Amino acid sequence: MKLKFTILGCTSSFGVPYPGNDWGVCDPHEPKNRRTRCSLLIQSETTTLIVDTGADFREQMNRYNIKNLDAVFYTHKHADHTAGIDDLRIYAVRNKEKLTAYMNEETSLEVLRNKSYIFKQEHASHPAILSPYILQPFETVEVGDIAVQTHVLDHAVLNAVGYRFGNTAYSVDMKDIAEEKSFDALEGIDTWIVDAGAYHRTSFSLHATFDKIIELNKRIGAQRVILTSLSNHIDYKVASQEIPEGFEIAYDGLCVESVS
Ligand SMILES: [Zn+2]
Repeated sequence: MKLKFTILGCTSSFGVPYPGNDWGVCDPHEPKNRRTRCSLLIQSETTTLIVDTGADFREQMNRYNIKNLDAVFYTHKHADHTAGIDDLRIYAVRNKEKLTAYMNEETSLEVLRNKSYIFKQEHASHPAILSPYILQPFETVEVGDIAVQTHVLDHAVLNAVGYRFGNTAYSVDMKDIAEEKSFDALEGIDTWIVDAGAYHRTSFSLHATFDKIIELNKRIGAQRVILTSLSNHIDYKVASQEIPEGFEIAYDGLCVESVS
């Protein structure tokens, strides 16, 4: 089966540039340094899925002309991955039914606490837009013709949900892989899109360093590792030249096609 992945956004909470045109070490003239908040689009011939809806979700849907979504998957509750959730309303309207939102229990409780109207109709003119599906660790679900297998990520303050679609996996946000079983879930992947938000550091509490990704991939063995969740400390060209073969720096709009 053929799947197309589009990295809609590849930065963490501040975006690049940071508000006030703070580009950090990034060259403002390099288009690949302009980064929106992390999100991944997955498309088969008949099914379209998205992972996370951050603050840039609406802009991303317009930029890539995405008129329909079959389901949304959330990695975790942090605002840079969920803040655009209200903009899913038009997709529920177009589908004429609630969109299924796959998430772990912690994320669902956060949405319920802050935006209960997303799941429950609270006014006749304001229907609920999402139907939550609580994912259990390592569960596999199917949406249309796409099978989605989960794994567990250590994001320091919480466990996030990683996703695998065929031979491609998306592990965001994380400082490390959590649980031995996650390595089983990632066995045999050829492309790994992974959080390297602490790329430029030797240690960081919430995101993975590049050394950590290298160490993990010795075990996972992906031939193509695409580093995402990039801040303004990581210039696309500079970092691309310093990483070994098989590793890549993500940019908004990067497409990966896979057959599995
Ligand atoms: Zn996070």
